[in-house]
Amino acid sequence: MTTKGPLKPVRDDFLIFGSPRIEDDEINEVVASLRSGWLGTGPKVARFEHDFARYKGIEDTNVAAVNSCTAALHISMIAAGIGPGDEVITTPMTFCATVNAIIHSGATPVLADIDRNTLNIDPERIEAVITPKTRAILPVHFAGRPCDMDAIMAIADRNGLKVIEDCAHAIETEYKGKKAGTMGDFGCFSFYVTKNIVTGEGGMVLAREQENIDRIKVLALHGMSKDAWKRFSDEGYKHYQVTECGFKYNMMDLQAAIGIHQLERIENYWKRRKSIWDNYTSQLSDMGITLPAPPESGNRHALHLYTLMIDKKCCGINRDEFLIGMTEQNIGIGVHYMSIPEHPYYQARFGWSPEDYPNAMKTGRETASIPLSAAMSDKDVNDVITAIKKILCP
Ligand SMILES: *Cc1c(COP(=O)(O)O)cnc(C)c1O
Repeated sequence: MTTKGPLKPVRDDFLIFGSPRIEDDEINEVVASLRSGWLGTGPKVARFEHDFARYKGIEDTNVAAVNSCTAALHISMIAAGIGPGDEVITTPMTFCATVNAIIHSGATPVLADIDRNTLNIDPERIEAVITPKTRAILPVHFAGRPCDMDAIMAIADRNGLKVIEDCAHAIETEYKGKKAGTMGDFGCFSFYVTKNIVTGEGGMVLAREQENIDRIKVLALHGMSKDAWKRFSDEGYKHYQVTECGFKYNMMDLQAAIGIHQLERIENYWKRRKSIWDNYTSQLSDMGITLPAPPESGNRHALHLYTLMIDKKCCGINRDEFLIGMTEQNIGIGVHYMSIPEHPYYQARFGWSPEDYPNAMKTGRETASIPLSAAMSDKDVNDVITAIKKILCP
């Protein structure tokens, strides 16, 4: 009759890390797209762009929907005129896509270490790695906390550099009243399944100059002249011209159908994550683990990731033991991220080693992200807390 014991996990079913909340409106809108026969880039993409521009307080002419944030970063750099021989400075504490996009543009990525508290790129270290080849700074608003944009924009102005914001974590982020993605020359967003709002795969570019968005729309659709998607509409056939060698980066109406309704609920989802975040913060203190630095007043944190730092000296187990323990408790967990120089490709190509970026290295070896999603029930949240207590205070 023993049902409990050390081997019984806190829950029977696995809590998936970062699962999105999908509601009937999205489902019905996707079905309507399917029934209409218009699956590809069309009116729903145009509406999603319009709604996103309004959300950001900018004109429709300054946004372009694409099929990922990786694509958004890549074509932003091309539109910024960045290519072979150029250097782009970014953070070692990011997803590999940030660095890969720089490499795909033909430029060379250069890393500047992070601040251990904010986990964002440290402006002083940016200054230290600027060379005559530097063309741009690519800050990542890590976990949804805004970077020190006053300092970054000042460095960019002094040195004539472009700024491309990686806003994959930062849809709702604001810095001193300015919205993420509107401060730099370009802002790139992700609607990947684990992000704060989703389209499955999807992304958006914001550009301060309208001509950059015009170019990005061409680059995202094979290099075909503007509004090429209209060529199959009821306005009659239109010839298109290929004006440069572009990519296949356009968003589909099927994706925008999801995004339109997700965007309507962005504030409710943020509030739900805020309540989960506050619950974690009050329940997980005094356990020998470091919790995320509290959001700064005056700024808006997008609350994308709740990152713990697991230091064996303080809590008795190391990060990888914690990951195993949580998985045994049927709680999904993430690592954001092993620092970029830990990966063999970058070591071989650029000669990077993790020790050269000690703050990112230490963070990457100690960090674990616990589930934080608007799809979570109160029971899910309590299960996460119970599992952590069971592992750290057995
Ligand atoms: C998710 C993510 C990306 C890539 O987004 P996709 O839409 O999946 O291409 C880029 N940068 C960061 C920081 C991310 O977290």
